[in-house]
Amino acid sequence: MKKQDSPDARGYFGDYGGRFVPETLMAALDELEQAYQEASLDKSFQDDFRHLCRQYIGRPTPLYHAQQLSRQASGATILLKREDLAHTGAHKINNAVGQALLARRMGKKRIIAETGAGQHGVAVAAACALLGLDAIVYMGEEDIARQSPNVHRMKLMGAEVRAVSSGSRTLKDAINEAIRDWVTNVGDTYYLLGSVVGPHPYPLIVRDFQAIIGRETREQMLAMYKRLPDYLIACVGGGSNSIGLFQPFFNDSEVKFIGVEAGGKGLKTKKHAATLTAGRAGVLHGAKSYLLEDSNGQISETHSIAPGLDYPGVGPEHSYYKDIGRARYVAVTDRQAVEGFQLLSATEGIIPALEPAHAIYYAARLAADLPADKIIVVNLSGRGDKDLAIVASFMDKKS
Ligand SMILES: *Cc1c(COP(=O)(O)O)cnc(C)c1O
Repeated sequence: MKKQDSPDARGYFGDYGGRFVPETLMAALDELEQAYQEASLDKSFQDDFRHLCRQYIGRPTPLYHAQQLSRQASGATILLKREDLAHTGAHKINNAVGQALLARRMGKKRIIAETGAGQHGVAVAAACALLGLDAIVYMGEEDIARQSPNVHRMKLMGAEVRAVSSGSRTLKDAINEAIRDWVTNVGDTYYLLGSVVGPHPYPLIVRDFQAIIGRETREQMLAMYKRLPDYLIACVGGGSNSIGLFQPFFNDSEVKFIGVEAGGKGLKTKKHAATLTAGRAGVLHGAKSYLLEDSNGQISETHSIAPGLDYPGVGPEHSYYKDIGRARYVAVTDRQAVEGFQLLSATEGIIPALEPAHAIYYAARLAADLPADKIIVVNLSGRGDKDLAIVASFMDKKS
């Protein structure tokens, strides 16, 4: 079987993906697929995206040689892809701007989105303000209480934030509510999904907009080192920053991929979000992929100290990568992630988001076991200002 770097005609990567949605959404997904295919072949659309990447997002982001961090590990060289320096402080803006451009091209002015911690909501609010689109963001009541600065940011940029009071009042309930809205208003509404999850063609669209991370990394590696890296390491929530880094290296079999999931309080406790490491295949939010469920087949309540990793599903392309052995997936606990957070802050003067702090921890440990001529690239998917209070309260409880 030929290895796939794109989904087949039915929207599957190997056994994963597809469309498990109500009949009313099938036509909307067909329309989206068609519009996206046309846009991806349209030079002026691609030019618009490239222009905003440069002028608005601040791309290309640096590929930074973390000398102090590497020295501390005393092994391989560690490079950081600085998505924390992208506008709004994380990689999510790449996808938000790309899809907002697509919505505008499709003539849809009403944009809906879901958000957990608020990072995707902020990116959507910014992209919609930029392009003159109306943004409605669904967010669980629990998350609204925990993440009030992001709620203020979204409102300042003109988005309407709708509180979701069903279920656990967190991300998965917000997704259900956004899907309900889309079913009702499918004619004039664009659903702007935030990661490489959901029904086909979303995992493909989001991946393609995030692949700018990997394409830049490849160019920067060739310019700086005249070769490709040995390892690419990124944290995996829904899987968009990791697949964005990995995918452009898919056919370079000498480049190893490692996805780092949220081990939470440990895999034995069930309080984690390590979907690929500890889950099994099933259907969630419109696609078949690995997921976390309990013995009754109910979707698990997940836990991670990093809000952006706290999701019981993962993108279908990662499930495929896992099954064919193209990527390896590991779990890092809350405690270890906080160690990574402190390590990068102290060695480099860079405060990472708690999500990529998982990848930093793993990379530092791996680097220590490798010879000095190996190169590891870590995707630093976001900055950590948003997480200071979480880390402070974690340290309080520990002492
Ligand atoms: C949302 C988020 C993630 C997790 O999402 P992916 O789709 O897996 O990339 C990781 N890092 C940061 C900084 C985030 O905001």
